[in-house]
Amino acid sequence: MITNPATILVIEDEPAIRRFLKTTLRAHEHRVIEAETAKDGLRAARLENPDLVILDLGLPDLDGIEVIRRLRLVSAVPIVVLSSRDGERAKVEALDLGADDFITKPFGVDELMARLRAALRHAIQEKGGRSIYEHASIKVDLARRFVQVSDEDIRLTPKEFDLLAELIVHAGKVLTHKHLLTKIWADSSEADVQYLRVLVRQLRQKLEPQPAQPSLILTEPGVGYRMAG
Ligand code: CA
Repeated sequence: MITNPATILVIEDEPAIRRFLKTTLRAHEHRVIEAETAKDGLRAARLENPDLVILDLGLPDLDGIEVIRRLRLVSAVPIVVLSSRDGERAKVEALDLGADDFITKPFGVDELMARLRAALRHAIQEKGGRSIYEHASIKVDLARRFVQVSDEDIRLTPKEFDLLAELIVHAGKVLTHKHLLTKIWADSSEADVQYLRVLVRQLRQKLEPQPAQPSLILTEPGVGYRMAG
């Protein structure tokens, strides 16, 4: 839970969505800075040092993807992207360039706030690191490398553990296929998405109460995977 207010920069040209974001975020005690264009947004990011940026990908003066590229040159601020329902390619590109998460329009208050909490939490954890994960019947201690389901010890292969660890460190956040392939296979030119699917299936068999209806390792179709967080 976030108990301290954050400064959130909203870069969005649609007045209705900007108004909705402003009202919602202020109701949750956050400080909101608004920008209607990429140019204003980049300037505000530099001057105001926000804790988080909400970025619409379709801006009038510059592609949102280019905004991410420019922001990442100077800042590690968490970026949550707003995208359209059919924007899979743009989502993947945004994530690979260093955006932290995306929200598909239209979205509700609960989803918005959950995504923002996760992004703010990860920004803190990037500095500290988290090693204990507990969710439903699973318990994992990454530092001590133990995994239990309903208090039974589970044996994982090294690759299964690597995948699980990467998902847990970023629990609640979507990780792209490319991100996971690069993390788990040092030489990712030798790996492809099919290997990843096999590995995810193995992990689900060992960890999920119902592997065919995963509640732990969630699939983001066309994008990657997200650990329930
Ligand atoms: Ca727009």
